[in-house]
Amino acid sequence: MIKMLFITIAEYFDKIENVSSRLEMTDYLAELFEKTNKEEIKKIIYLLQGQVAPTFEGKEIGFGEKLIAEGISKATGFTRKEIEESFSKKGDLGEVVEEMLIKKSQGSLFTKELTLKKVFENFEKMSLREGIGSQETKIKLLAELFNSSTQKEAKYIARIPLGNIRLGVGDPTIMDSIAIMIAKQEKNWLKLKEEEKRKIKQKLREKIEKAYNVYSDLGEISEIIKEKGINGLKKVEIKTGTPIRPTAAERLPSAKEIIKKLGKCAVEAKYDGFRILISKDDNEIKIFSRQSENITKMFPEIIEAVKQLKSKKLFIEGEALAFNEETNEYYPFQITIQRKRKYDVEKKAKEYPLQLFLFDIVYLEGKNLMEKPFKERRKILESIIKENEIIKLSEMKIINSAKELEKFFEEKISQGLEGIMAKDLDAPYIAGARKFSWIKLKRSYKGNLDDTLDLVIIGYYTGKGKRTQFGLGALLVAAYNKEKDLFESIAKIGTGMTEEILKELEERLSKIKTIKNVRIISELKPDYWVEPKIVIEVRADEITKSPLHSCAKEETGLALRFPRMIKFRNDKKPEQATTTNEVKQMYSKQKKVSVELFGQKE
Ligand code: AMP
Repeated sequence: MIKMLFITIAEYFDKIENVSSRLEMTDYLAELFEKTNKEEIKKIIYLLQGQVAPTFEGKEIGFGEKLIAEGISKATGFTRKEIEESFSKKGDLGEVVEEMLIKKSQGSLFTKELTLKKVFENFEKMSLREGIGSQETKIKLLAELFNSSTQKEAKYIARIPLGNIRLGVGDPTIMDSIAIMIAKQEKNWLKLKEEEKRKIKQKLREKIEKAYNVYSDLGEISEIIKEKGINGLKKVEIKTGTPIRPTAAERLPSAKEIIKKLGKCAVEAKYDGFRILISKDDNEIKIFSRQSENITKMFPEIIEAVKQLKSKKLFIEGEALAFNEETNEYYPFQITIQRKRKYDVEKKAKEYPLQLFLFDIVYLEGKNLMEKPFKERRKILESIIKENEIIKLSEMKIINSAKELEKFFEEKISQGLEGIMAKDLDAPYIAGARKFSWIKLKRSYKGNLDDTLDLVIIGYYTGKGKRTQFGLGALLVAAYNKEKDLFESIAKIGTGMTEEILKELEERLSKIKTIKNVRIISELKPDYWVEPKIVIEVRADEITKSPLHSCAKEETGLALRFPRMIKFRNDKKPEQATTTNEVKQMYSKQKKVSVELFGQKE
């Protein structure tokens, strides 16, 4: 077969860019796929996805707009300033380079035709470059491509490394097009009725998606199809090291509707961290994100904990979140997300250790468990996981009624969680789709507290983790109930203290330790009680209902969510602290903000 020229691809991309319907788009893409051999189809698919290998291999082309502009400048001789000006008008570097090449009028003077192989090779080389001097090399490799391309080719070459070819071709379109490509090989295809054609395409498409769901590499799937036909996919199975596509949750507005849909079901706490899929093959452990990126290196403590599991081969799934050892509470998502990083991994791991709540298993010792009902998978998960400091099972309960579901939901909200996840006990693991096997119920509003509070320290916890040297880990603080002249607990604070403040706190608190003072009302028991003497200023995200705390007990208790100490208020007496009544007023007045503004995750 003659080597595929990149101009052929660019011409198809151009046609796709100008179509008026998705149907036309898939037809053109299928036509392009037909012209390829197995290596070429794989390369085109990766380039369409803005990569040179499946996502989980982590080979990023690694280009920002700035580097591409450099490449354009190097190839065309236009200055960075000129390129930036044109970019700010057009908003697309593809069009910028197209225009610059026209101006440069190098139109037809090519000595060599650009092949798909060459384009791909250069991008591959770019993906392998990291570190000193890598940028120079990358720019050179890109400029080389621009130098031997037509305007049309250059347009797409500039767009590929940004992962945005702007064709609107996503994975579903790619799968549809592969299905059409195979369908057209049917005998008498042209003579078939439309309905027959549609059925054939649909069947093929289902087979492709089924394979993709357990093996997230459309490039390789297309290669298998080219080589062995659709039946080649029968051998594609879930295997350690290659991520499956995760299932997704539906949403319903109330407990009642969830029960109407599922009947007796499982409910779990919904943790607000990030979802991870873990593959273990003896001591080779890999961690994948919800988007199938390989994020193994980011979580050394999870790797160590998973190594301790007895099972040799498995795929398990759960939610990881940063845990505050000082207060025994979870950090907000904004803190947890700091653990998703490439640099300073060890340092951040010490600062914000993670806990992992496992909620599913899809593979064990060579067996695919996806078809098994959830209740069986959960049993298997429970049987192989021994909980420890890091790995836990998600909290789960089986319930029968909307009332029970609501109670569990309220309980989780008051513990500062996001909501609950209801699960169909009999559903298989539905990879890559949402089909009411999981239904989420989140609280719809969240308070937004603008003001700070002045609170009284009533006790403290000794330091754990990185705070051991201070003998002080967290503070228990109270609001002042003026009518009863009592100090009622409202929050546990482990954040916001500098080393200097910690030292001062320890010194002052150790002098006022007491065996509980009768004016202190608290169900939580700190390591030491102290005389209610010291007032501190505290900021929090919001005031929430909480049965754990004693402030405003008649309203099930009010507490601060994510409290942090700002400074000492030595100018205030404990009786001048924020009162319980003020807390109640602040609670009713706090701005209600739709949760969707927060908690938006990857
Ligand atoms: P959402 O991101 O709001 O669509 O909710 C789905 C996400 O909730 C999942 O992708 C998980 O990351 C997360 N999650 C937290 N707790 C659980 C749980 N117990 N079961 C399943 N997913 C959970």
